[in-house]
Amino acid sequence: MAADRHIAIAGGGIAGLISALSVAGPGMRVTVFEQAGRLEEVGAGLQVSPNAWRVLEALGLAETVLRLSVAPAAIRMRRGSDGRTIARMPLGGQAERRWGAPYRVIHRADLQDTLVAALEANPNAGLRLGTRIDGFRLGGVLDDGVQISVDGDLAGRFDGLVGADGLWSSIRAQIADEGDPVYSGKVAWRATIAADQVPHGIDPDETGLWLGRDAHLVHYGVRAGEEVNVVAIFADHWSEPGWSAPGRRGDVIARYADWSPLAQAVVAAPKRWVKWALADRPPLSRWGVGPVTLAGDAAHPMLPFLAQGAAMGIEDGHVLGQALAGADDVEAAFRRYENRRMARTARVQRGARANGDIYHLGGIAGRARDAAMGVMGPDRLLARFDWLYGWGRPAAED
Ligand SMILES: Cc1cc2nc3c(=O)[nH]c(=O)nc-3n(C[C@H](O)[C@H](O)[C@H](O)COP(=O)(O)OP(=O)(O)OC[C@H]3O[C@@H](n4cnc5c(N)ncnc54)[C@H](O)[C@@H]3O)c2cc1C
Repeated sequence: MAADRHIAIAGGGIAGLISALSVAGPGMRVTVFEQAGRLEEVGAGLQVSPNAWRVLEALGLAETVLRLSVAPAAIRMRRGSDGRTIARMPLGGQAERRWGAPYRVIHRADLQDTLVAALEANPNAGLRLGTRIDGFRLGGVLDDGVQISVDGDLAGRFDGLVGADGLWSSIRAQIADEGDPVYSGKVAWRATIAADQVPHGIDPDETGLWLGRDAHLVHYGVRAGEEVNVVAIFADHWSEPGWSAPGRRGDVIARYADWSPLAQAVVAAPKRWVKWALADRPPLSRWGVGPVTLAGDAAHPMLPFLAQGAAMGIEDGHVLGQALAGADDVEAAFRRYENRRMARTARVQRGARANGDIYHLGGIAGRARDAAMGVMGPDRLLARFDWLYGWGRPAAED
């Protein structure tokens, strides 16, 4: 049995909380430091694909999340201009059979509450709110640990530090020599509507994905089907950091004014929108130094066009837990974890960028995309995601 270890995690987002739950156990204590005084999620949904679901199952959370989430029967892709269905990719039972776990959608706050409750019930894990880790100092010759810095002062020694502090990570800033995140020139507008406000013609059991020139639109049920999450993404020059800047309802309605009447009805339904400027970074060649590593958006911020940012953070947490289980040497365990994660997350980062370009094609290129998807058929549509959603199946490759 390894000696008692204490790991600090910077950031109480999904990646930080899943990492804490996966790592904390006998001989391995974890403290999560979250800068916010209160953990709160703005109204928005999250697609939990089968690869992420398997981790929730491993943590014993699947039953709770099952009650709070929705399993869409399919993803229906439509042309924005006239509402014509381009393709319908079945999910539901077919997804579960193919990838060995369900594809579900959930309200972020519901997932976060579930993770926090599990953390509070874990005697080896703790959460310190209102504490921002602004950097670290490695232990030195006689100490293989790491000191964290809070408000400029050294604030405790740990055996390891995980930077799960998101897109603007302070921990990453000390590991990588790079500039600011790269803004994509696209902004995501997000809202929720009550299920009974959903326009007639929208099937609440399906995820809707509408494609058009320089814009797309996504909607799906959350809160056990009581609400529908709507995300509208389009080209814009606005680029302030943050999750919850209020967006003017009239702006989003005007942007979709030349789309089909049904798409216009979807964007007209919410009363309140928040917006988020989309940024990512290129894959990083080194995630860690000594007993310090990264997880989630801090390690691999990506655009949301594969709906995998949180899923990758969830996978990270699981692999981190496996690497640290019973480990005496935290530094070696972190390097093992990074070796298992870097190529896959880089592929997803690049794939998300490429998908964004494809989604926003217009004119002849857009019509060619629609035609190609239209002839694919359900099996080929699903097969494109085997590498992504099949992760973690017994005998599957990383
Ligand atoms: C429009 C949109 C739709 C998306 N849809 C999906 C989807 O369907 N499925 C999916 O898997 N992903 C999706 N994503 C991506 C997903 O939201 C993110 O990848 C994920 O939330 C990142 O989680 P994280 O824990 O790594 O980072 P964050 O959520 O950014 O959490 C970081 C936390 O660290 C805290 N923090 C920051 N700095 C410090 C510090 N120095 N010290 C202490 N605490 C600190 C922050 O307050 C925050 O709580 C979407 C993203 C967008 C924008």
